[in-house]
Amino acid sequence: MYKMKFPNLESDICIIGSGPAGITAALEIAKSKKSILLIEAGDFSPKDITPFEAEEHGIPTHLQAHRLRMFGGTSGHWAGWCSPLDASNFQANSFENMWPISYEEMIPYYDEASEYLNLHSFRADQASHQRINDKIGGKRFYFSSPVTRFGVQFKNAILKSKHIRFLKQATLVDFSVDQDSRVQSAIVDIEGTRNQIKAKQYILACGGIENARLLLNFKKQNPNVFQEDGFYIGKGFMDHPHFYNVGRLISTGFNRILNKSLTDEYGQTHKHQNFLQLSPEVRKEHDLLNSVLRIHDSAPESEFEEQMAQTLKNNLNEPWSSSKSLVFMTEQAYSADSSYVELSANKDSFGLNKTKITWNLTEKDWDSYLRSINLFKKEIEKQNIGYVKINKTFLDRKAIPSAGPHHMGTTKMASKRSKGVVNENLASFSVPNLYVLGSSVFPRGGCANPTFTIVALAIRLAKHIEKTLS
Ligand SMILES: Cc1cc2nc3c(=O)[nH]c(=O)nc-3n(C[C@H](O)[C@H](O)[C@H](O)COP(=O)(O)OP(=O)(O)OC[C@H]3O[C@@H](n4cnc5c(N)ncnc54)[C@H](O)[C@@H]3O)c2cc1C
Repeated sequence: MYKMKFPNLESDICIIGSGPAGITAALEIAKSKKSILLIEAGDFSPKDITPFEAEEHGIPTHLQAHRLRMFGGTSGHWAGWCSPLDASNFQANSFENMWPISYEEMIPYYDEASEYLNLHSFRADQASHQRINDKIGGKRFYFSSPVTRFGVQFKNAILKSKHIRFLKQATLVDFSVDQDSRVQSAIVDIEGTRNQIKAKQYILACGGIENARLLLNFKKQNPNVFQEDGFYIGKGFMDHPHFYNVGRLISTGFNRILNKSLTDEYGQTHKHQNFLQLSPEVRKEHDLLNSVLRIHDSAPESEFEEQMAQTLKNNLNEPWSSSKSLVFMTEQAYSADSSYVELSANKDSFGLNKTKITWNLTEKDWDSYLRSINLFKKEIEKQNIGYVKINKTFLDRKAIPSAGPHHMGTTKMASKRSKGVVNENLASFSVPNLYVLGSSVFPRGGCANPTFTIVALAIRLAKHIEKTLS
């Protein structure tokens, strides 16, 4: 028997995890005056991440260095790059996965999310592909400026809210369910004591890998709760592989093209960068995964370039030259068989199995990457932007990518339970009062950093919950 420190923990909604997802959901749901319990395994400063330790297989994911266990979650050290997914990510292709909602439906939520993320120049309608011609253009990435550290920026709003009660050092260890597979209570370790939180609805917002690990542990304890959807928990882990120095651009007209075609239309703008992207038509025609090519190391010739150059200077700490390095940042196709999160045999201090993660790229990924990079080369040279030399290790499929680190796909959203873990409203197919929130629900990751979409989804979920509880 466990000692209960807080015997009467009850609320309308219990949110587990206080990263960008959990904090946004709490603040948005509080607007409808529902009572919220927000629980966080960490404290206001980083806590020991031993429970997050993982066995790694395949391409290194460096999970230990990446995730933070604290109020504000991993936004405590994220870089702040933000871009919406592309409309094409919401359409079907031969990679078979698609979002069961439309891009148009997401636009108003992106607009609202831009406020949380300090994206002052963001306008959803301008943010997708900007054309140089019908084959190639630019995708715009915004900077969160000043960068939103959720645990700092929203600390007062959370702690002073009449509707939110925040509990730190409170770790979800299990759920108890009734005969209809509804969560009756969340079992939470608070400072070494086991407690039950009773709520009408629960939101699991513990990050792209912990969401899966916690559900896998829950499934192990309750093998009869999940139906076919249980198969997908942990399956199809995706990141945005970053190939640094995939090749060089020997520039002739890069500055001219970039200035004329990517900035004239929108004037002198600040706090964003454009990366080269193949047009939606080219990607569709060639059935390609989404990707962008970043051109690093450029002598600034305009305010736009100055701002770009400054960021690159800060990021790379390299002197400028007319030869620029190319960074290929790309989507990875969902593959249940080659990349996944499982339970390791090792247990954490709460008795939960730790994570075992396997991250690999498939032949299909590589095939798309090589065709994309050759199309980039062809268009860049045709436009007289410059001459492109691709590194042999990449052409030989031997280059090892770095992790985003953007953890997606492990509890994916789908239109039916035979295809994923949560429905289009983020509710578990098998546990109807349990929502899963975060990049783990992404069925496709596109080539946009995930947090903007996570925050947009949190706002969308809050509106849905408001409707279901009113
Ligand atoms: C170095 C780095 C740079 C990045 N840069 C970018 C970027 O430029 N742009 C971008 O879009 N994204 C970036 N990311 C990714 C970004 O940090 C994540 O997308 C974002 O933090 C995810 O938010 P989240 O709320 O879903 O999860 P998290 O931020 O991981 O928060 C989850 C929270 O849940 C808590 N928790 C976990 N388990 C439990 C439990 N059992 N009980 C209670 N609480 C629990 C954790 O302690 C944590 O506070 C970066 C990540 C890293 C590591």
